[in-house]
Amino acid sequence: MKFKKLIRNFCGHFSTITRHKIVVMKHCFKIGLYKQGLLHDLSKYSPTEFIPGVKYFQGNKSPNNQQRLVEGCSEAWLHHKGRNKHHFEYWMDYPLNSREVHKLIGIEMPIRYVAEMFCDRVAASKIYSKDAYTDRSPLEYYEQGPAKGIMNERTAALLHHLLIMLAEKGEEKTFHYIRTKLLKKGRRHHLKKKRIQNSPKHS
Ligand SMILES: [Zn+2]
Repeated sequence: MKFKKLIRNFCGHFSTITRHKIVVMKHCFKIGLYKQGLLHDLSKYSPTEFIPGVKYFQGNKSPNNQQRLVEGCSEAWLHHKGRNKHHFEYWMDYPLNSREVHKLIGIEMPIRYVAEMFCDRVAASKIYSKDAYTDRSPLEYYEQGPAKGIMNERTAALLHHLLIMLAEKGEEKTFHYIRTKLLKKGRRHHLKKKRIQNSPKHS
């Protein structure tokens, strides 16, 4: 790669992932997920993800697809989804309580990661759609995409519910609902699960 192109790709990729990270962080802060907001997508700055990001920088689309096209698979994406819990692909596992043990299925995601995934999708839609962005854009993107067919059913239903709320009631009300209702419910659910696990029957 020529030096000039390398510098252009480096700056382009760095600015794309950083702009995205800042928007997600702002959204996460609004719903009270401070730690997740700060740590969101940090692995994109690791060599395994950053170097292919620069090498296959496209400007208007993900470099992962270009890496897939040239190398057969995107190691950057495999590295990314294995370390970031806001991606439903992180939560794929072999179920033991089913006849289809050999088949990877979507596990239900903890609510705080569904909330981060929601923030991620809204931020990506804003950056991708630019001036054409409306509160309906993330819902349209989700309904056209393949994710809903792979994700755990309950996770998909919750994400869909939040995207519809965003389209119909707007950002302010949806973020308020996530912060004051959904995440509180998530915390209660988590504590209840912990109490059951720590009870004498389960020890
Ligand atoms: Zn990510």
